[in-house]
Amino acid sequence: MTQISTVAVLGAGTMGRGIAHVAALAGFTTHLYDSDPQALEKATSSIHRNLAKGVELGKVDAGAAEKARQGLHTQGNLVDAVGEAGLIIEAVPEDVALKIETFRAVALHCPDSALFASNTSALSITEMAAGTDRPERFAGMHFFNPVHVMKLIELVRGLETSDETLDTLRQVSERMGKEVVLVNEAPGFVTSRINALIGNEAFRMLQEGVASAEDIDKALKLGLNHPMGPFEMVDLVGLDVRLSILEFLHKSLGEAFRPNQILIQHVRAGRLGRKTGRGVYTYDESGKKVS
Ligand code: NAD
Repeated sequence: MTQISTVAVLGAGTMGRGIAHVAALAGFTTHLYDSDPQALEKATSSIHRNLAKGVELGKVDAGAAEKARQGLHTQGNLVDAVGEAGLIIEAVPEDVALKIETFRAVALHCPDSALFASNTSALSITEMAAGTDRPERFAGMHFFNPVHVMKLIELVRGLETSDETLDTLRQVSERMGKEVVLVNEAPGFVTSRINALIGNEAFRMLQEGVASAEDIDKALKLGLNHPMGPFEMVDLVGLDVRLSILEFLHKSLGEAFRPNQILIQHVRAGRLGRKTGRGVYTYDESGKKVS
């Protein structure tokens, strides 16, 4: 099994910053790269805040948090980010062409032995892997939001992914404190496929006037024991991210996944969820729901 000591994370948005947090806390030297310097600044303050909160709550050892802060390096230069990485985890926007282009640029500067993993929510691992020079050392590592809290990683096997790659990524995931399920490539894996269907149906109910957003959320939480309602969930995930997942699932799995008009309208209006302060619900600057 390959021994990994350095991890590079590409994209410092909602997911990339969370992945960098758990990688650094697991003791990997971690390089977090983004093409937008502001995203790197925001990521650093969010990771530091979450580590401090972990210590305050007694969930993270103070020494480990300090080591994580020291082992985390933000990078505005791709060459510096990936030059010594044994594993490169991609968390750039959900666009297959962008992801392939990003991995191709990485391959020019990273070690030949480095493993590639994509945090895509739904796209084809086999297609992305085929666009690189190392399809057997390429897999999906699907983390969940917020990454430092959520326990699961879906480990996704593409057509050419080797058993050795999967064994190494399982070991890395467990070192990050995560539980793993192994999924053979299928659109949306297990979780995004089910979640997109529930979320889309909730928008359809809203459109039909079946109940208010609050009451649909309340019904699923109190009646079906879901920890979050579907609208609270989509505000957390990002309505743009959910729409792109549905568009892909609609193309690959059919009509059941056709994105609902209300979701499309919200995205057109820039109501992308918590990250823009407004999605289905509205949030104040501290992230508290106000309506
Ligand atoms: P996001 O929009 O919050 O962040 C994307 C980041 O990538 C931005 O900071 C942007 O500046 C950066 N970026 C754009 N192009 C880049 C490039 N070429 N090189 C480097 N950085 C670049 O998106 P997100 O929600 O973090 O989603 C990232 C990926 O994770 C997507 O594939 C998404 O489907 C997947 N995902 C999202 C969630 C979720 O809940 N949001 C959950 C699981 C998986």
